[in-house]
Amino acid sequence: MYIVMLGAPGSGKGTAAKILSKKTGLPHISTGDMFREQIKKETELGKLANSYISNGGLVPDEVTIDIVRDRLKWEDAKNGVILDGFPRTEAQAKALDEILKEQGKKVTIVPELVIPAQIIIERILNRATCSNKECGAIYNTKFKPPKVEGICDVCGSKLITRNDDNEETIKKRLEVYHKNSKDLIEFYKEKGVLKTIEPEDPTADNASEQAVDIILKCCE
Ligand code: ADP
Ligand code: ZN
Repeated sequence: MYIVMLGAPGSGKGTAAKILSKKTGLPHISTGDMFREQIKKETELGKLANSYISNGGLVPDEVTIDIVRDRLKWEDAKNGVILDGFPRTEAQAKALDEILKEQGKKVTIVPELVIPAQIIIERILNRATCSNKECGAIYNTKFKPPKVEGICDVCGSKLITRNDDNEETIKKRLEVYHKNSKDLIEFYKEKGVLKTIEPEDPTADNASEQAVDIILKCCE
């Protein structure tokens, strides 16, 4: 199964992707996480990526496509993956099709999480993520705070706030998402794999689990 998660920043696509990964055993591939790892290691790629990410813009297609192409060659990706944050442009979507085609594969389903903008902004501004990559639990410091401030309930690691989770960058990221997503959504709609998911209550505790159940039902 090759699942492409679509949704604005803060739509919960990362959380849903993590749950999907756990339930299916398929690797969760987040280009945002991959870039953040490179930034942390201060590699050349990280420096380049950061110059775009810190402004809320997109890392150039060539760079992004290359890292995904390499990642899809790993052994763990041969039965499928959960892609989170890629593709983000039509050029990336076409490149992904080509990469998969070479292996005789194609995108299985493209869930699109649709969440009202107000909820999204509120969510991102209060977002805190576990610094332990293996865990990656996500908290909302206002609505779903950890038991101990700044500490992950699940694994006890420190919680961190993403540098790009500030009001100015969020507005730009949402703009960029809406500008690019139109073409992406059209692209996958035409292929008949788009599945729009509009949670009844996106603030519900189990909203992500519900979205995942819908996705898995479509794949049966
Ligand atoms: P969010 O969806 O909350 O913005 P991500 O972790 O998916 O978070 O992405 C963070 C940033 O990383 C994006 O704003 C963008 O700059 C960069 N990025 C991630 N994926 C891509 C991609 N497929 N193409 C270009 N840039 C990307
Ligand atoms: Zn944790």
